[in-house]
Amino acid sequence: MASESVILVTGGSGLVGEAVKWVIENETGERFGKRENEKWIFLSSKDGDLRKEADVKAIFEKYKPTHVIHLAAMVGGLFKNMKYKLDFLRENMMMNENILWQSKEFNVKKVVSCLSTCIFPDKTTYPIDETMVHDGPPHDSNFGYAYGKRMIDVYNHAYNEQFGCHFTSVIPTNVFGPHDNYELEGSHVLPGLTHKCYLAKKNNTPFVVWGSGKPLRQFIYSRDLAKLFIWTLREYEEIDPIILSVGEDDEVSIKDVADGIVKAMDFQGEYAFDSTKADGQYKKTANNAKLMKYIPDFEFTPFDVAIKESVEWFEQNYDTLRK
Ligand code: NDP
Repeated sequence: MASESVILVTGGSGLVGEAVKWVIENETGERFGKRENEKWIFLSSKDGDLRKEADVKAIFEKYKPTHVIHLAAMVGGLFKNMKYKLDFLRENMMMNENILWQSKEFNVKKVVSCLSTCIFPDKTTYPIDETMVHDGPPHDSNFGYAYGKRMIDVYNHAYNEQFGCHFTSVIPTNVFGPHDNYELEGSHVLPGLTHKCYLAKKNNTPFVVWGSGKPLRQFIYSRDLAKLFIWTLREYEEIDPIILSVGEDDEVSIKDVADGIVKAMDFQGEYAFDSTKADGQYKKTANNAKLMKYIPDFEFTPFDVAIKESVEWFEQNYDTLRK
């Protein structure tokens, strides 16, 4: 990276943004740690509303970023996605529109934005890979979020072809870790279950998991993802997206997740599945071959270690965390 890089991270106060900050502050190695010529700026919504063009312009004028990691988004689990489809579409489109346009206006050298594996076509073949993002409609439960996110890839190619901009994107699978959103409704499955299990233990009530427990998912620890974001910013040259995920063999069921939380929390009470509640997509197995080709020696944190660290963080920060 050229001298005096100013790296602006939108969504710096979220799950992924806090993990990037943690890696930048704690990692000592050259590959993922902070480099001398870099200044990192982590934004939250207090620095400006990214849905508003004037706010985004003012942020770019203030910091004059040379690089952007664009994480800010309206994010939520299955039930919130089903309820607020227009909000997911509109708010994410507005933020992406403003960030990419100002990045072009301010000659930002590189932007890495964030897609998600849940934006892939509903009817597809498995495993999913990066070439399939636009191959068919997404699952009906989250089409607002999915189409909003897919447009980032369309924008990246258009900005590249018309203006030569180096804007790219990554596709993480389900992320979890410290600073997650632990709301009981509206959160993703792993933090939601963490909170439910905590309350069941505290109140001596049953721990009831919504759905059958059978759907399969790949989970990535936020601190692993953060390292891969930093790698993407520094070393990944393509405009096309890259899947950031553990391998296909590391897919786990929702029951495995619940079992992991029960163990990490040492929950001894009654524990059941409510199959009358929606399951969402049965699976969305993603292939991480492209990532492994680029960075074959990357070491993912084992799932049980990552769950343990996340549950410990949750227990230590219960009074102040998002819930
Ligand atoms: P969080 O919900 O934890 O954080 C969202 C971040 O966006 C916060 O920093 C929030 O600021 C900021 N933000 C939201 N709305 C606005 C706004 N209008 N103006 C300015 N800032 C705003 O999200 P995650 O860290 O989980 O997600 C980061 C990225 O990763 C997103 O693009 C998401 O789509 C993607 N992703 C996430 C996955 C997951 O499992 N969590 C899976 C795959 C992709 P504040 O704290 O001030 O509210």
